[in-house]
Amino acid sequence: MKTIMGMEVHVQIKTNSKIFCGCSANYNVPPNTNVCDVCLGFPGTKPRFNRKVLENAIKVGLALNGKFHDNIFFSRKSYFYPDMSKNFQITQYEIPLVYEGLITINVADKEKKIRIRRIHIEEDPARLIHEGADITTSKSVLVDYNRSGIPLIEVVTEPDFESVEEVRAFFDKLRSILEHLDVFDSENYIMKSDANISMTGGERVEIKNITGAKAVEKALNFEILRQKNLLKRGLPVKRETRHFDALGGTTKSLRTKETEEDYGYIFEPDLVWYSISAELIKKIQNEMPELPDERIERFTKEYEMNHETAVALISDKKLADFFEQCAKKFKDKKLLANFTTTHLMKCLNFNKVRINRSKVTAENYLDLLENIKDGTITERLAKEKIKDLVGKGSVKLEKKVSDEELKSVIKKVLKKNAKAADDYKHNNESALNFLVGQVLKQTKFAADPNKVREFIRKQL
Ligand code: ZN
Ligand code: MN
Repeated sequence: MKTIMGMEVHVQIKTNSKIFCGCSANYNVPPNTNVCDVCLGFPGTKPRFNRKVLENAIKVGLALNGKFHDNIFFSRKSYFYPDMSKNFQITQYEIPLVYEGLITINVADKEKKIRIRRIHIEEDPARLIHEGADITTSKSVLVDYNRSGIPLIEVVTEPDFESVEEVRAFFDKLRSILEHLDVFDSENYIMKSDANISMTGGERVEIKNITGAKAVEKALNFEILRQKNLLKRGLPVKRETRHFDALGGTTKSLRTKETEEDYGYIFEPDLVWYSISAELIKKIQNEMPELPDERIERFTKEYEMNHETAVALISDKKLADFFEQCAKKFKDKKLLANFTTTHLMKCLNFNKVRINRSKVTAENYLDLLENIKDGTITERLAKEKIKDLVGKGSVKLEKKVSDEELKSVIKKVLKKNAKAADDYKHNNESALNFLVGQVLKQTKFAADPNKVREFIRKQL
């Protein structure tokens, strides 16, 4: 059974003010305080387009290898909903800013190109707070208009995803690109997505308004299972719009039969046509920073890193920046790269903290790595110590085990594991590995495994 998925991702674009008025774009303030006549949708008020939104959206379009329409305009998407006091959202429908883009994703070190159908600009509606329960059962709703008029771009892909892993890789790449462009604040902004999914033999189902990339994975995994079970039993998968219940991890039917035409798009007469001239594109092109794909290439050359490692590192811009900051001061790039992409990254992920929010600094991190280099501690011990570094910003190093101490530990271990010692004497190499492991454990990984191996050989 083949699964095909497409994504529509709403990305908040970094600006000082909202898209059509002068209100601050910071909505993390008391409810309904960053508002004005325009973003509250009072009759007779007129929108004014914030050019910074256009410039940042063009950056994204260039980074996603898209084509640009020469002239664009805005349309009103009409619908009645409490988050939209004007009863329409200003968006782009007929002619999007960008069309026919491409993004390269990496899954298990295989490259795949995902086609971008379009990128358009629109305003965010207000925030609805469903009191006490979720959207399907809540009895009352609160509205916060701080978010009304926050600039968004919507990135719409073709249905090119064949697995949830590919969708995850897409979000990793997209986020990294947006961070490299400095148009997205990944610490405060959340991507809101709609996902389309269809399986062989079933109709297309849309899951609306999924908050965050992790939730998209959960929603898709649930939906794949649900549709598979229906199809297996010979039941139809209906064309419908579903809602993802993040708490329950399930999707629920919201409505059936709804098409774009139902929104009755009309031209927004309060705004003009905007020319996307070749000069404008060129000017922005010249200001483009290094992007993830180029950076991956550079890392593989400059730091002799394999491609997969570079992809992993650069999927997190802040970690990649940290790595480069360290690389300037640390000679052993291989050790730095390996330790960062395995132990440090794992520890940060486990603690759900990004490098800039952890206690790790270039100084304390390089101290730890210097200790590995000069043999003060083993890599195995450093792997344990990195946990302290991430959480507390300092590590306590146990005294290094002296040769005399090590020999006496080995003596004890050999005595206790006479069978393994005997096996080794009969040419069983795995018995030696076992013994080395036991000795390391006894020394709390403060001993050098090669030395332990050598000493055991000598003693036997
Ligand atoms: Zn306003
Ligand atoms: Mn939209």
